[in-house]
Amino acid sequence: MSSERCDSGTHAIAETALARMKALGIPATPENYQVWYAYCAGTHPDLSRALDVLVSNRDTFTEERNAEIHARFFGGGGDQLSQVADTSHRLEQAISRILSALDEGGRESDATGRRIASLSGHLTGDSSLSVIQETVREIVRETRALLHRNQELEQRLHQSSREVESLRKDLEDTRRDAVTDGLTGIANRKLFDERLRDSMAAAMEHGTRLTIALADIDHFKQFNDQYGHDVGDEVLKLVARHLREQIKGRDTAARFGGEEFALILPETRLHDGGKLADRIRAGLAGHSLTSRTTHRRYGRITLSAGVAEYRYGEPLDQLVRRVDDALYAAKHRGRNCVVAEDGSVAGA
Ligand code: GH3
Ligand code: MG
Ligand code: MG
Repeated sequence: MSSERCDSGTHAIAETALARMKALGIPATPENYQVWYAYCAGTHPDLSRALDVLVSNRDTFTEERNAEIHARFFGGGGDQLSQVADTSHRLEQAISRILSALDEGGRESDATGRRIASLSGHLTGDSSLSVIQETVREIVRETRALLHRNQELEQRLHQSSREVESLRKDLEDTRRDAVTDGLTGIANRKLFDERLRDSMAAAMEHGTRLTIALADIDHFKQFNDQYGHDVGDEVLKLVARHLREQIKGRDTAARFGGEEFALILPETRLHDGGKLADRIRAGLAGHSLTSRTTHRRYGRITLSAGVAEYRYGEPLDQLVRRVDDALYAAKHRGRNCVVAEDGSVAGA
């Protein structure tokens, strides 16, 4: 997105976007505006490149083409990315309203100040009482009017800051949804990666240990086949709850994928991580599951886990590969056990 194409600043961007649309004969519908606002703001490089190609080819922006561009970059009916883009666009608008109210407030008070100064300039040592009275009345009128306008502005500012607050909350909710696993409510893979990356950096910075564990439910396919996918889903929720209950505040439990769960254990050595993973394993294996509603018995659920400790400087993928190898070793040993990367084993 070249800088000469559009001015920065929300108003300037909005005006340039509308001017570009007009020049290209594109109707000013909200969808088209969203596309061209993004183009002028330079927020979507892929979209800017696509539009640049169309413009340089002198392609016509037909109704279908406009709809297709919008669907491509903003479509999908409220997916999280477009939700975020939409919310931040609304946020920009609210901020610009606040700024213009503040600006207006400043201008109003400047103008009133100038008018009051010029009124008092009319007064001289020999001004008559009636001139003095009239001047004072004028000044009172001016200040009252300013006060009134300021109250209005204040209300507008309050309204806008309420809007910003609710938008901030929307963004927070969207962000939380984006990093939460829909079924189990614990961290999803995206948050696991983020937290692990942060934890690796913190461990390296403070010289502390960091251990991760990867657990996989044993013979889960068989369980699903026998009792149905819905019961399987309930088991996944139960395992997630069990993990969450067994870890401490700074630890993270995440759904790594399908029936695999991961733990990030900062300030934890391999051996201690192994002990925790085994306690979790034993806690699950020690119970026989029964349906609360039908009282049907599902038997015992077990899991196998691998444990690995972070080595300063290694890439995330390498650490994950090592913990995956340890998990594989646990499966290979016959399941329902925990194997650490140094070969030590806990459990059945
Ligand atoms: P292993 O002990 O070797 O891990 O055997 P397994 O059957 O658990 O492993 P496999 O990889 O063959 O199968 C994993 C199963 O997990 C298959 C799939 O049906 C189930 N699964 C994955 N995600 C979900 C889910 O969201 N809900 C349910 N109910 N099942 C799931
Ligand atoms: Mg698996
Ligand atoms: Mg499995």
